[in-house]
Amino acid sequence: MSDVLVVAEHRQGSLREVSFELVTAGRELASESGGHLDVAVIGGDIDSFAEELSLDGVHQIHTVDYGEEFNHDVYTQAVTQLHEAVDPTVLLLPNSVNGLDYAPAVATRLGLPYVSDVVEVEWGDDGLEAVRERFGGKVETVVGVDDDAAVVTVRPGEYSPTDSDGDAPVEPFDAVIETDAIVTAVLGFEAVAGGDVDITEADVLVSVGRGIEEEENLDLIFDLAEALDATVSASRPVVDDGWLEKGRQVGQSGKVVTPDVYLAIGISGAVQHVAGMKGAETIVAINTDPNAPIFDIADYGVVDDLFDVVPELIAQFE
Ligand code: FAD
Repeated sequence: MSDVLVVAEHRQGSLREVSFELVTAGRELASESGGHLDVAVIGGDIDSFAEELSLDGVHQIHTVDYGEEFNHDVYTQAVTQLHEAVDPTVLLLPNSVNGLDYAPAVATRLGLPYVSDVVEVEWGDDGLEAVRERFGGKVETVVGVDDDAAVVTVRPGEYSPTDSDGDAPVEPFDAVIETDAIVTAVLGFEAVAGGDVDITEADVLVSVGRGIEEEENLDLIFDLAEALDATVSASRPVVDDGWLEKGRQVGQSGKVVTPDVYLAIGISGAVQHVAGMKGAETIVAINTDPNAPIFDIADYGVVDDLFDVVPELIAQFE
């Protein structure tokens, strides 16, 4: 029987989607071994976060009422103390900028193995196994953990978020935060260019690649996005050319997205791009090349010139 503790993530007053994905991962892991899943949330609008996190399969919610936004030193202290009190076998944290910031520090303090950027975590014949992708998703490696106890960061977008309600009791946790040990401070929050658009939260993405040929042609893509009430994202060459902001890049060196619908327009489907969008529920590809790899993962494909297809789609949707 192995218990699991998940630490939720929030930013600017909202819980991040990855928190609900970690609940799914944690619930599967805990229930397979007959253990409990507990969820912790630190700082921010603690009461409403706790209510939102009362999800199916959650046994207990621990709240640490300290601070508004993420702070490395506070999280490191609070999560270490929570771990000592709750004593889970597996600690699941988001493989996000914040998670990657404090997970190694917590693992070091607890003297536990640390496995990062995991796409799946499960019980194998010999105990806990964490699956990681290498070489842009071409190869999977399975990391076996001795004695099962570990700190694991899970890549956002790999598990479906849990949205069914539960009735977990909330237990405030009295973490003793040493203020002398808080040597970092969040000075402010500044969105990167294009930060007004969060492609990771969009339900429908209209994604554009090098097939668009010229910057001026992007108007066509934005017109389609407007007709579909969608958000525009891109493959790397479009961003490298400076035609769209880095915040819109999908892929290994961009963002991982899991929209309901992903329209790949003039995108070949290189592994580094696919690594960021393969979790989309429905993938539609428009490409002149019938052998483009994007068609291997597309649910619907149009082998045609985007300059013919996109205006027709805009007319249809309008
Ligand atoms: P191309 O591969 O050039 O494909 C363009 C496609 O458009 C072609 O399939 C073509 O048939 C089609 N086309 C052309 N004209 C038309 C038309 N008129 N109508 C319809 N279709 C048309 N890439 C990412 O996207 N995201 C990443 O995060 C990323 N990270 C990387 C990290 C590393 C370490 C490396 C080495 C590479 C990374 N790449 C990334 C780059 C990746 O390898 C590809 O080069 C890139 O994804 C290709 O982008 P593309 O599909 O837009 O362009």
